[in-house]
Amino acid sequence: MSEIIEPFRIRSVEPIRFTTREQREDLLKAAHWNPFLIDADDVLIDLLTDSGTSAMSAAQWGAMMVGDESYAGSRSFRRFEAKVQEIFGFKHVIPTHQGRASEKILMSIVGGPGKVIPNNNHFDTTRANVEFTGAEALDLVIPEGREPDSLHPFKGNMDLDRLGELLQTRGSDVPIGMITITNNTGGGQPAAIENIHAVRNLLHEHKKPFIIDSCRFAENAWFNIERNPSCANKSPKEVAQETFKGADGASMSLKKDGFGNIGGFLALNDDDLAEKARNILILTEGFPTYGGLAGRDLEALAVGLEETLDPHYLRYRVQTVRYLAEKLMAIGVKIVQPPGGHAVYIDARRFYEHLPANEFPAQVFVCELYRFGGVRGVEIGSVMFGRSIDGKEIPADRELVRLAMPRRVYTQAHVNYVAEVIAEMWEHRHEAVGLKITRQAPFLRHFTAHLEPVRSK
Ligand SMILES: *Cc1c(COP(=O)(O)O)cnc(C)c1O
Repeated sequence: MSEIIEPFRIRSVEPIRFTTREQREDLLKAAHWNPFLIDADDVLIDLLTDSGTSAMSAAQWGAMMVGDESYAGSRSFRRFEAKVQEIFGFKHVIPTHQGRASEKILMSIVGGPGKVIPNNNHFDTTRANVEFTGAEALDLVIPEGREPDSLHPFKGNMDLDRLGELLQTRGSDVPIGMITITNNTGGGQPAAIENIHAVRNLLHEHKKPFIIDSCRFAENAWFNIERNPSCANKSPKEVAQETFKGADGASMSLKKDGFGNIGGFLALNDDDLAEKARNILILTEGFPTYGGLAGRDLEALAVGLEETLDPHYLRYRVQTVRYLAEKLMAIGVKIVQPPGGHAVYIDARRFYEHLPANEFPAQVFVCELYRFGGVRGVEIGSVMFGRSIDGKEIPADRELVRLAMPRRVYTQAHVNYVAEVIAEMWEHRHEAVGLKITRQAPFLRHFTAHLEPVRSK
């Protein structure tokens, strides 16, 4: 059969609330044209993020009932630890409340002024945690990874020449090397297992630990099965296990490929590094057998880690994103190619060609998406990455809108609806009016900024 269906049936549902366009115009105004400031109850389809928004399975909810909430040495931790070790293969498993807590712990050990940490692309929390220590976060993705139209199958690959050069010229400043799978910042693009192993070997030649930011490791494994002949006949779990072979550690947000609403871990092989990490963990997260989590969370996550590697799930998962991407391309909308594992990234500059970068075309897109259809996406453009210097706006390199798919939450009809909303926006794109910022915070301004239209319609 060619039809790829949702590999689950639905036994528990949550109603979504419909609003009229007039209501949404008022809500948008009240939210100062910043969808982060809209209440979720006023959103019909929420594609803001795939983080922590997944639907848990009946098996996960069932596992929560047998959670052991013992402070030390809980049975739930042992189950979690065993599952992480089975897939990732690391000796020490340190639970945290989410990915950035793992990053914070790791970077406070290895970071510091004068240090430089290479990655394909640092995710924004990773970058922030590196830079907070005074270290430099260096992005070394392959050139194709920076080109929105390139159809390279593994646009998350690391540029090995540039990594080699860094290790030759500044080796003593490099405490660890990283790769992010899939490469979220680059559009949810996968890295080939051979590239991951080559990064490992290169780092090991220079005696540097190799840590994998593995938030979407299962999606990365699936892309390798689809696109990489060396993985074609393997199971997702086998590919995942091979991915981490020989690496020195992993940081993980289980809010992504762990099917968790909360959770993360830092896994390490080195005893010394793990001891340092646990000492910080106790200060900030909790005792080493629960980290920042309840025993019931650890149970649900152990089940989630197994479910996320189900090939039927992964085929459906990747197809969901591709399906939306293909519908948008058919309309004429330009997206980052090829579609990634967890989201479609729309090029808003080429959607609203009449809007200059300093009128925030990607922010206009997310506002129009909400106004036309009650759908929420996230701006990844000049509101997020632009800078205001002495009142002058320095725009970001790209004006993207990310439509991230929560896992197992929306059906094909929901996706059809989103495509229909965007088709209507496309027809009316010439009428869209630019925005200007009226209030902003000094850091991470996109979360709280206030905007307004540059003129009334
Ligand atoms: C989400 C994410 C993180 C941070 O995880 P949180 O759970 O949000 O703290 C780190 N790296 C990547 C690639 C991510 O996608």
